[in-house]
Amino acid sequence: MPDEMSPSTSESRHFVFEQLADGVFAAIERDGGWAISNAGIVDLGGLTVVYDTSLTPRAAQDLRRFAEEVTGRAPDIVVNSHYHNDHIWGNQVFGPPARIVSTNRTRELVLTDGQVELQSCVAEASDRLISLKEQDAAAATQDERNALSLWIAYWEGLVQELPHLTVRLPDITFDTRLLIHGARRSLELIEFKAAHTGSDTALYLRDEGVVFASDMLFVDCHPYLGDGDPHRLLKALQDLGALGAAAYAPGHGPVGDLTDLRLVAAYVGDCLDAARSLIRAGSANAASIRKLPIPAKYEAWQLRQFFAGNIQWLCRRLGQTWVDEAEQSTLFGS
Ligand SMILES: [Zn+2]
Repeated sequence: MPDEMSPSTSESRHFVFEQLADGVFAAIERDGGWAISNAGIVDLGGLTVVYDTSLTPRAAQDLRRFAEEVTGRAPDIVVNSHYHNDHIWGNQVFGPPARIVSTNRTRELVLTDGQVELQSCVAEASDRLISLKEQDAAAATQDERNALSLWIAYWEGLVQELPHLTVRLPDITFDTRLLIHGARRSLELIEFKAAHTGSDTALYLRDEGVVFASDMLFVDCHPYLGDGDPHRLLKALQDLGALGAAAYAPGHGPVGDLTDLRLVAAYVGDCLDAARSLIRAGSANAASIRKLPIPAKYEAWQLRQFFAGNIQWLCRRLGQTWVDEAEQSTLFGS
């Protein structure tokens, strides 16, 4: 089982650090902190690797400090799993000589969709924060306030950090697979195309049975489907499951296992079914989508506001493409 690190090395308002194997750590986002997403640290032996850098330089500094404490060296290699801001906007904290590695497609997306994301965040951050604080003040229940707290932290972090944020680009890129070898162990970077974004990279430690899956896996929270292909995500979840790892570190939520991969696959299947029903009934519109109840098995999950957006995205996609029902039913034998 993962161990939480002792207080001397785990002090961070942005992350909780968990040891998954000797020299392998998951950095799990803390509620109210400015990381907003999880990250990982791997001591390869003579090479320290950091997987994802969080939303803000402030949180990334804690990640860097922790990596230095537990591996005895500054990070040499930083992996960007995909282009979304909450995974890479801490890049600048890992200045040279650290090298940033991503797939070719992810680097392209940082320069295109990522730039659009940056410009809209700069334009919106102050207003979004004010609006969320007003919603928080008017919230009637603790549940409502809990649902808002992540987004308040997200925009608060951006308002504070955007003035000095520079998106450092990946400087080493690859396609499909990349192996990195240290004195102590090797790691494998595996690309999945169009699963969660145009390109997503998992980090696999074969001998340790550990996978860092980034946003192809969300644990105890609604996944974000709005930038990928649901069928490719299902295939990616199947392939990640076939690695047979003991621990799967997600992009959001606590460290999980194979059960959590299956749950996300079931969720994607349920959302596809809901979208198809709406299309068949001629009611694939925002008003009907908003009325859809969240299925009981996902009721306790965080990020519940993603549910309606996911259904809406799938309605749009299904309206454009033919969906092979058989492809989905083969997953996980379910
Ligand atoms: Zn993402």
